[in-house]
Amino acid sequence: MRFGVVGSGFSGAVIGRGLAEAGHDVTVFDSRPHVAGNCHTERDAETGVMVHMYGPHIFHTSDERVWEYVNRYGEMVPYDHRVKTTVGGKVYSLPISLHTINQLFDTALTPDEARDRIAQEADESIGEPANFEEQALRFIGRTLYEAFFYGYTRKQWGVHPRQLPASVLKRLPVRFTYADSYFSHPHQAIPRDGYTAIVERILDHERIQVRLSHHFVAADRTPFDHVVWTGPLDEWFGHEHGRLGYRTLDFEPYRADGDSLGCPVMNFGDYEVPYTRITEHKNFAPWESHERTICFKEYSRACSEGDIPYYPIRLADDRALLDRYLDAARSERGVTFVGRLGTYRYLDMDVTIGEALAAVDGILAAVASSDAIPAFFVDPA
Ligand code: UDP
Repeated sequence: MRFGVVGSGFSGAVIGRGLAEAGHDVTVFDSRPHVAGNCHTERDAETGVMVHMYGPHIFHTSDERVWEYVNRYGEMVPYDHRVKTTVGGKVYSLPISLHTINQLFDTALTPDEARDRIAQEADESIGEPANFEEQALRFIGRTLYEAFFYGYTRKQWGVHPRQLPASVLKRLPVRFTYADSYFSHPHQAIPRDGYTAIVERILDHERIQVRLSHHFVAADRTPFDHVVWTGPLDEWFGHEHGRLGYRTLDFEPYRADGDSLGCPVMNFGDYEVPYTRITEHKNFAPWESHERTICFKEYSRACSEGDIPYYPIRLADDRALLDRYLDAARSERGVTFVGRLGTYRYLDMDVTIGEALAAVDGILAAVASSDAIPAFFVDPA
């Protein structure tokens, strides 16, 4: 069969590869001049540092199939991500740990004492937290919430934390030890040659053609038996019901001699500081050495037409709109929607790759039994 795959991020690349290996012909389209989507990395000509062009991407997973898969296409160097946050002119450890608690309360609590202290702070009158703020008040209390989450979250999402789902906060752990790794997955790494080199190798197959700087339009689907769409779900339908809400990011680079932050990512919890975080890219590659540094200040804002969509917002209004697009997608024939944009979900890279591998299995099974290929292989609702 002939497949058109729209988008060359991890979703599109992994699916394109899987279909090509099964003997199908694949054309992968991307509107940008490079592959790898928002994982794209590029060496900065002035400093020589490998830059995560669309913000920090740290690979972490507990999925052995996914881990084995990425290692097939490039060397993954073990890496332990650590994040700090600056609030009120002081630097604290993230995620919330015994260190953070002792720093904020100016104490020297043991794990059990800290547990008791947080239990006193927690608002137990909240039964089932209905939103981000309630989740925070229920489990860590107002002091920690206001210092580390309130300002950052308002900047990041552009709304009050009461309007956000509790699930956004559930991404972050609270620890009663001094362990300060940002992630707790068994595999955590950064590709030695960057993410783009990995995606290029995934796409390097005789049955795959890649067309960059090409904005796929409806007429482009004619030569294909089936299209795999990893672009924004609403864009496939020409935004006919309206636009799904996304946050986009602006990066303001600066270069300096020596080191600027001393860590890969410094968050800024104060609402008054206009950026959410600064990334010092050379610290993602501690095995390299660079005399100069390049950093990105990261600003979050509402995504308008022409901006790159990053984070799906999924507030109540978006959910109603999402349901309309999901209904439309389910009755569409000849298209499968996958990935962060295609299913309008906040996905980490490993989940994206795992879902793409599952989509390949699903597509091949449908083809083998001459069934229609489903619009979705996950439930995006
Ligand atoms: N968050 C926060 N303060 C921080 C870090 C995170 O309030 O210092 C909140 C914020 O709402 C963010 C969410 O926790 O969107 C998830 O954080 P994570 O670091 O996973 O975000 P990502 O790196 O995916 O942007």
